[in-house]
Amino acid sequence: MKTTAIVLAGGSGSRMKTKTKKQYLLVEGKPVLWYSLHIFEESPLIDEVILVCGAGEEAACREQFGEKFGFRKVKAIVAGGKERYHSVHAGLKAADGCDLVLIHDGARPFVDEMMLQRIIDCLSAHPACVVGMPVKDTIKMSTEDGCVAQTLPRERLWTVQTPQAFSYPLIKDAYDRMLRMEEEGCLDVKITDDAMVAEYISHTPVWLIEGSYNNIKITTPEDLVFASAIVRKMYQ
Ligand code: C5P
Repeated sequence: MKTTAIVLAGGSGSRMKTKTKKQYLLVEGKPVLWYSLHIFEESPLIDEVILVCGAGEEAACREQFGEKFGFRKVKAIVAGGKERYHSVHAGLKAADGCDLVLIHDGARPFVDEMMLQRIIDCLSAHPACVVGMPVKDTIKMSTEDGCVAQTLPRERLWTVQTPQAFSYPLIKDAYDRMLRMEEEGCLDVKITDDAMVAEYISHTPVWLIEGSYNNIKITTPEDLVFASAIVRKMYQ
């Protein structure tokens, strides 16, 4: 079984409000993107990595993450697209020939080996799974004008993270179909993660498995403070 990780770093990171894109900001001396590439490089569960960067950043990424940091599992560096799902599709095309694929946000530096093991174990029985954590807060749905419409039952709510992991043929086919639907103007749902593509396009059950509360996505400036603390704890 060949397992490929697609690491997404093609976003603009506008909510960070910094000149440097968030995936390249330094946390405790290393770029945010270094941390997940390092975990995949070290993991015996991952055979290859496809890095998806912004259009025009391929050479700089190759120099930094291939040559400087020496990530030997990075087999291709490809340009992403306008939306996250366009970047995923570019990564899936480059991952051709693998059996299992893990799709991971490069903005989430703290995936860990135990999480990867849980994913691979789940994929041995099911074609699709995502990591997440039970919500800690009460979640309410609002009306359009901001009044509480409904309080959702917390016991069954999860915040979903990445990696999101799939049988490669299943998710490649679902993404191909989804992008054809977009071209034809008949995609009537806003796609916000990969699981949705499996759920809505191929009607595949997607299993939720335990991620980690450390597995944060770096999005806004205060996340960098948490990220530094997590690095000090994980790498001490
Ligand atoms: O913007 P957001 O934080 O949701 O992005 C999640 C991940 O997807 C990030 O690692 C980002 O670099 C990546 N992304 C991408 N291509 C896009 C948009 C986001 O690779 N067009």
